[in-house]
Amino acid sequence: MDIEQFRKAGYQAIDRICDYYYSLQDRPVASQVHPGYLREALPSSAPEEGEDFQLIADDYQKYIIPGLTHWQHPSFFGYFPTACTFEGILGDLYSTSATNPGFNWACSPACTELEAIVMDWSAKLFGLADHFLNSGGVGGGVMQTTASDSALVAVIAARSLYTSTHPAVKLEDLVIYTTTQTHSLGVKAGLVLGLACRTLEVSAEDQYALRGDTLRKALEEDEAQGKHPFILIATVGTTSSGAIDRLEEIAEVVRDHPSLWIHVDAAWAGITLSCPEYREVAKLEWINKIGDSFCTNFHKWGLVNFDASTLWVRNRKHLTDALDVTPEFLRTKQGDAGTVIDYRNWHIALGRRFRSLKVWFVLRSYGVHGFQKHIRDAIELNKHFASLVTESPTFSLVTEPSFALSVFRLQPPAAASIKPDELEQRLNELNQAFYRRVTARPDILLTQTKLNGTFCIRFAIGAVRTKKEHVDRAWALIQEEAAVAVKEWCE
Ligand code: PLP
Repeated sequence: MDIEQFRKAGYQAIDRICDYYYSLQDRPVASQVHPGYLREALPSSAPEEGEDFQLIADDYQKYIIPGLTHWQHPSFFGYFPTACTFEGILGDLYSTSATNPGFNWACSPACTELEAIVMDWSAKLFGLADHFLNSGGVGGGVMQTTASDSALVAVIAARSLYTSTHPAVKLEDLVIYTTTQTHSLGVKAGLVLGLACRTLEVSAEDQYALRGDTLRKALEEDEAQGKHPFILIATVGTTSSGAIDRLEEIAEVVRDHPSLWIHVDAAWAGITLSCPEYREVAKLEWINKIGDSFCTNFHKWGLVNFDASTLWVRNRKHLTDALDVTPEFLRTKQGDAGTVIDYRNWHIALGRRFRSLKVWFVLRSYGVHGFQKHIRDAIELNKHFASLVTESPTFSLVTEPSFALSVFRLQPPAAASIKPDELEQRLNELNQAFYRRVTARPDILLTQTKLNGTFCIRFAIGAVRTKKEHVDRAWALIQEEAAVAVKEWCE
């Protein structure tokens, strides 16, 4: 393809993307294809001779789009929606157009410098303390691919810090702390690094948040057995129910265990810190006081298309001490002089995408107020949904609504006549049957979870195009399927 052919194909691509967005509402939210559909449709090897690009572009429409689940659909309420904007798409387009791996400042100074600036803008947007700013020169922020990568990097840095200050410690005695509600990233970091991970229990009474006493007891037990707790992965806004660990109580514990690195995973809910009225509930004060590292994802609720996970550390030296490996071929004059950031030493890979460009585009185009409005609107919509659930005699909320997430289940009046020892199992069966019915529908997407054995349904708002009418329609569909599920359950 030459430049003029690219111009033509590019215009067509943008036209088709716009048509896609216009038609989004009328498409099934979840892809309706069967496993292996694409292998049946496509040749088993690449073509011997190059093909006409128009044919390729048409095949995208014909074969790929039907196999897509439309996360930008206004009736997508599953997982955590990924709010994507055109500004972000354009940022990625420009970034790809200049494709360069930006690992050292010298590779492309703009990549590093914009990232350092945008991370500071974001830190200020979220109210993070000055010690997290790149401009301060001690701590700083870096963009990672995902929150899982951010957590892995935090664990690597914490391990390196701990073993350098406790040189006699054996790696097999190190312990990572998570809770049953921590995202799988905690256990995965342990798996990847070959380190033990202890999963602490949390209770329904505490809204599935980690309490200080639970942590203290576990630390004392493990230390008595010669183990070395070195990091806690705390969460602000867990995946299942949006639980917020009690950082203020954890702060008390940390006072007696100063070597424990606190990583705060706020992959989804951290974005709410952009609104001053949510900073208390999202524990900003404590993130600033005890957080050694903090992560949130713009690519969930934050209007930026995947990927854009932002990680801040209190002390950048803890990252670079753990991750700086500099063979001759990676040395540069500026890196040697220590006058620039070489971001390759702040994450695992060498090469990195120019992700800050899309965040820059979005933050400039929306401004702080536009960004806050997106968050506030979703939270208001969730309040509306939660009130529908609360007022219904057939449904109940399983946990307090958290920001833009409600966790609910069917609990029909007929349940009152079931023996207490059978109730939980029978309700789980009902809710599973109800969920199967909902997931069979093409016009809505919800996802499920289990909270200490209780099967429940999550309703997460955050897609850019979701409005009240979509929430109301979702509620009507939920009621429709619930009526059938309850009838069958009672028979
Ligand atoms: N942490 C929390 C609280 C999440 O909800 C999720 C995903 O939903 C993740 C981490 C994982 O995010 P990523 O896909 O960026 O690794």
